[in-house]
Amino acid sequence: MVRGVARSRWTVIVAALTAGLLLLPAAMADARRKIDYSPGSPGLGDSYYPLDGNGGYRVRHYGLKIRYNPANDRLVGRARIKAVAKKDLSRFNLDFRGLNLSSITVDGAEARWKRRRGHELVITPKQGLRQGRVFEVIASYAGVPKLRQGALGEGGVFRTDDGAVIVGQPQVAATWFPVNDHPSDRATYTIHLTVPAGLEAISNGRLMGRSSSGGWRTWTWSGGGKMASYLATAAIGQFDVRRYRTADGVPVLDAVDSQIGNRAHRVLAKGEAIVRFLARRFGPYPFGALGGIVERHDLGFALETQTRPVYDSIIFTESDDAFATSFVVHELAHMWYGDSVAVPDWRHIWINEGPATYSGWLWSGAKGRQRPREIFASLCSVPPGNEFWDLKTGDPGPANLFDYEAVYLRGAMTLQAVRRAVGAETFFDIMRTWATERRGGTGGTSQFKALAERLSDRQLDGLFRQWLFRAAKPRACGRAQPAAGASLPRLLAPARRTTLEKGA
Ligand SMILES: [Zn+2]
Repeated sequence: MVRGVARSRWTVIVAALTAGLLLLPAAMADARRKIDYSPGSPGLGDSYYPLDGNGGYRVRHYGLKIRYNPANDRLVGRARIKAVAKKDLSRFNLDFRGLNLSSITVDGAEARWKRRRGHELVITPKQGLRQGRVFEVIASYAGVPKLRQGALGEGGVFRTDDGAVIVGQPQVAATWFPVNDHPSDRATYTIHLTVPAGLEAISNGRLMGRSSSGGWRTWTWSGGGKMASYLATAAIGQFDVRRYRTADGVPVLDAVDSQIGNRAHRVLAKGEAIVRFLARRFGPYPFGALGGIVERHDLGFALETQTRPVYDSIIFTESDDAFATSFVVHELAHMWYGDSVAVPDWRHIWINEGPATYSGWLWSGAKGRQRPREIFASLCSVPPGNEFWDLKTGDPGPANLFDYEAVYLRGAMTLQAVRRAVGAETFFDIMRTWATERRGGTGGTSQFKALAERLSDRQLDGLFRQWLFRAAKPRACGRAQPAAGASLPRLLAPARRTTLEKGA
């Protein structure tokens, strides 16, 4: 082979010499370009989920056509994935679990594919894909989706009494479409949901249209902005849907399981005021659609599915309005922190959950209840040695990704510690600048620290090390004494912590 290449190069040079000297460089370059196609990596090297996502390309857009029949739980899907090659690719992977594939094409040509254990789907196109090339994958598949056990509990396509809801974190997208399943590769989505006529089918972004055919109805959703794959959702069933526009013209669509009373709608309707409250502190709301989905099903969590969080209905039926509203504040704060700015690696989960939890503290203070510094002081009364301090907030480990104390509460405490160090004005400047500068992108702990140092003109190594990278109570927490008989601070209905707050 090597010899063949050498000989052909000489042939070209001789030919070029006869044709004229001017042709020589281009001809030589062409002859020399023996394109070295190679496979894309099977994962993006995430610290906790190294095989999530895939290397060698980035996705620009997912066009999903999903038909779901609640009568037999069968899902029929067609995913159209527009991506750009980041190197000369001989083959590449997508992430996909369960369900049966029937065909895959790349730019219209049948591709070879095989599935590996876990979620790796290896696709070999007929021809190599040159770096920079935009290509389109179309995958057709069908089957009965299975739930998957993860850090948050079960996730995936939950079968409900009148349909299904698709939700979970972090590994859930691959249970219903082939995907580059990592938050660092964000793309736009168009989601067509086809369901039996008479049912609603709700997803992210704006409702672009509805059409009917042969007893089925298709709901088309789009315009939810660039999105991390786990934030894509679908809820199918009988919903009481309310639509309106905010004063700023953002279309709102709230969908509440029709078996749940008006109370959920009343709390969801606070979304506009909550977004205004958060926007005053964090900068403009990052998306062009807003809303919520309340599902009557034992999910055990709420999740910040983009533009339209999904809430377990128990949040609205078994607590007071203030408690339910705190969930809406938390999930909508994620639109800035987690959704618009995503984590580059799951290890940085505190940078999603800390600000979302802190937003709940801000809301609490604004409503005349406990203020952030009071909640902080109360948590600081937890004595050293208590298990409250026994994980590293900045690196809790995959099994503790949603640890309420280490990630949520201590994540929010870290922000209060930054606020104490740099002052409120600079602190909110940091939060706003983070959301604005990184809008549509990603950001991790070291970038957040660098921003805090830049805007405060202070060196914050010690602060971040103490609060995020030590499994111990930070010295700077102060010496507040626990109240007599107190164990852990009871800030939010503690009895529900395990069932409700673990994944909020
Ligand atoms: Zn959260």
